Amino acid sequence: MDIPINPQVSWSGVEGRPLVIAGPCSAESEDQLLETARRLSGTRVDYFRAGIWKARTRPGSFEGIGDPALPWLKSAGVKSGMKTATEVAQPRHVEAALKAGIDLLWVGARTTVNPFSVQELADAVRGSDVPILIKNPTSPDLGLWIGAVERFSQAGVRALGAIHRGVSVANSAPYRNAPMWSMVIELRRILPALPIITDPSHICGRRDLLQGIAQRAMDLGLDGLMIEAHPRPDNAWSDPAQQVTPERLGEIIAELTVRKGSSDNDTYLTSIEALRDRIDQVDNDIVAMLAERMGIVELIGEQKRLNNVTTLQVDRWRALLSDRMERARQLGLDPGYTKAIYEVIHRESIRRQSSIMSNGREASSAPEGSETVE
Ligand code: PEP
Ligand code: MN
Repeated sequence: MDIPINPQVSWSGVEGRPLVIAGPCSAESEDQLLETARRLSGTRVDYFRAGIWKARTRPGSFEGIGDPALPWLKSAGVKSGMKTATEVAQPRHVEAALKAGIDLLWVGARTTVNPFSVQELADAVRGSDVPILIKNPTSPDLGLWIGAVERFSQAGVRALGAIHRGVSVANSAPYRNAPMWSMVIELRRILPALPIITDPSHICGRRDLLQGIAQRAMDLGLDGLMIEAHPRPDNAWSDPAQQVTPERLGEIIAELTVRKGSSDNDTYLTSIEALRDRIDQVDNDIVAMLAERMGIVELIGEQKRLNNVTTLQVDRWRALLSDRMERARQLGLDPGYTKAIYEVIHRESIRRQSSIMSNGREASSAPEGSETVE
């Protein structure tokens, strides 16, 4: 996919250190913004954030101060030497934020889910060079996230980035939103030039977990962090449990180990090359063995067809899976990891044997939830 991202637009900070966006979940008063910004000024924060219009899950919660808070945000940022950032959800928010001189806009998770809204926002920023960051949608749908990036790209926005804030799933404990790192890794694979920052606050939902998630983002080589900070977190009008004081935010940033994309250390380069050669060899063997295994699956499928025996042999499948999981466990592998691999292998076996059963007519894909085994 070709999404032109202009490397000249260096909104995303300085090479070798993470971009930091910090500030309260919501703007509550001019004094609260001034105090937060002042207390943040000892920490290296690139953009001072505050929510002006708050999309709340249920009515009756605090829905943001709205337009009057824009000049508060801007002047608090300017006074403490930070650029400013806020969330926009409607074209009129874009217009008001740009008029107030807000330096960076982000699209919230509840907006990214709706392509109509995203397109309206993209149309509203057309022709402006303001950086736009797009939060992942609340649902684990990478297509919607990429689609939103494409809409802004097609509107001519070149200073683009993504914010990883976790996804809403039934079992996200201990987090408010499951981090789903696999989605971020896949986004990076598809759009390697797109800067991605992580928002530990909205992933964690509680302040004691922030450091671990922030460090994990650094370990993966992500480009920065958005963290909520409030002068008196427990009294915050929105998201109190996940906000930290500006001083605690400073500690979180200072404690991070920031990793680099590579190293020119000779020992590192030599050993990584030798280890990668070994990985390549093992992977060649894995692929060859998978092909050999599939050949046997087909022979079994042929025998089942000739003898009119069902593809589903549930006792065999259950015994095989628990045997492989136990063997793998003894070798130090996680049973869940082994199970997931075998489920994928099994799904392809289903497809091949179904095709043989239907006399070679191609079985396009296995019916969802069906089980069969070689
Ligand atoms: C926010 O950053 O304050 C916010 C509402 O985040 P999200 O869109 O990730 O829920
Ligand atoms: Mn919040």
